[in-house]
Amino acid sequence: MTVDWLIVGAGYTGCVLAERIASQLEQTVLLVDRRGHVGGNAYDYYNEQGILIHKYGPHIFHTNSQRVWDYLCQFTTWRAYEHRVLAVVEGRKVPVPFNLNSLERLVPRPQAERLEAKLNNVYGSGAHVPILRMLDAEDPDVRGLAELVYKHIFYGYTLKQWGLTPEQLDPSVTGRVPVRISRDDRYFQDTYQAMPAHGYTAMFERMLRHPKIDVRVNTDYRTITGEVRFNRMIYTGPIDAYFDYLHGPLPYRSLRFDVQTVEREWFQEVGTVNYPNDAPYTRITEFKYLTGQEAAKTSVVTEYPMPHRPGENEPYYPVPREENRERYGHYQKEADRLRSTVLFAGRLADYKYYNMDQAVARALKLFEDTAA
Ligand code: FAD
Ligand code: UDP
Repeated sequence: MTVDWLIVGAGYTGCVLAERIASQLEQTVLLVDRRGHVGGNAYDYYNEQGILIHKYGPHIFHTNSQRVWDYLCQFTTWRAYEHRVLAVVEGRKVPVPFNLNSLERLVPRPQAERLEAKLNNVYGSGAHVPILRMLDAEDPDVRGLAELVYKHIFYGYTLKQWGLTPEQLDPSVTGRVPVRISRDDRYFQDTYQAMPAHGYTAMFERMLRHPKIDVRVNTDYRTITGEVRFNRMIYTGPIDAYFDYLHGPLPYRSLRFDVQTVEREWFQEVGTVNYPNDAPYTRITEFKYLTGQEAAKTSVVTEYPMPHRPGENEPYYPVPREENRERYGHYQKEADRLRSTVLFAGRLADYKYYNMDQAVARALKLFEDTAA
């Protein structure tokens, strides 16, 4: 078999690039994935009750990018959805990101009112304050609140999720969920927040429906490089694996997903409940909130974090911190040398903590800059 492009990995990055190359350049693409489906970590399927399950954990689409939104609108219609998260703190459930409503649920009213006035004064109404910055506050009351939020919301969750404390990670990690000086309980504040009306997998299938795109799942690219001839390759798997761990393994975090269907209509009050403290899991998500489906039963997924071990489990998260960035830099130099034949992109190959919209934006940019 001869193709213009071999694309490794059928997640967002691989699918967007395959679609662009086929539809805009009219060149042939063989898209392969090691796993048995397209969609990468955003893959979803209907279970026996007809409930749409995200196999690799909850995926909520949100973006401020008009370009990414317009691009994906070619392949799906949407259901508006604003995600809400509560965290269990000392037996109470408080909104996350931590905000003025959370404050009121955690401390007695007069104290909450005093703190609210101080927060408005120090940061300004509507501000977003990363917890690691708030810990440096000059005002002892604000610092005291930051310590409380750090202890109850961030410390235990981060230690479970990453095996590291917030300080051992790039500040951008906990900065994803800043303290908000407002009463906006939504998890995201992006312009577009929605779920593909028929799921992510259906959207990917539409993207890939093109005569110039051939898809092979259950196929590790290493098993076919002898039989397939190609001009160029795009690789979206883990960059350290591509180079046989030449500069040592890059750490990734993995998860075990426990999906259960329960015999009642609803399981919890919002889409996701976070467990920042003792529980061995980080969060439980109830799919029907995300999909808007109606059913007599409900399905939930519980996430148990663990280190990634190649060959044993999937690499879900790059681990953003300085020493890993340095190691990635060595791999990036190797990748640059191959530039004329192999392009590297995506959450695993760029070793960057991309959200779905960022993976799309990265793929569209790569197409414009290099492939086109
Ligand atoms: P991937 O989806 O990882 O695709 C890479 C593909 O390469 C994989 O399918 C893999 O099987 C394949 N592959 C690797 N090696 C080989 C090989 N040797 N041969 C063949 N194939 C190979 N983003 C959001 O915007 N909102 C969310 O709510 C959200 N929730 C998330 C929850 C979890 C638990 C996780 C893990 C991620 C979440 N994300 C979310 C991020 C989102 O999953 C990623 O941004 C997106 O999937 C990245 O796409 P990708 O194509 O770069 O990578
Ligand atoms: N985080 C936390 N407590 C929470 C929510 C988030 O400590 O209740 C921290 C934790 O380190 C987490 C990071 O913020 O990994 C980013 O959270 P996000 O929900 O964006 O993670 P993702 O959905 O990508 O797993």
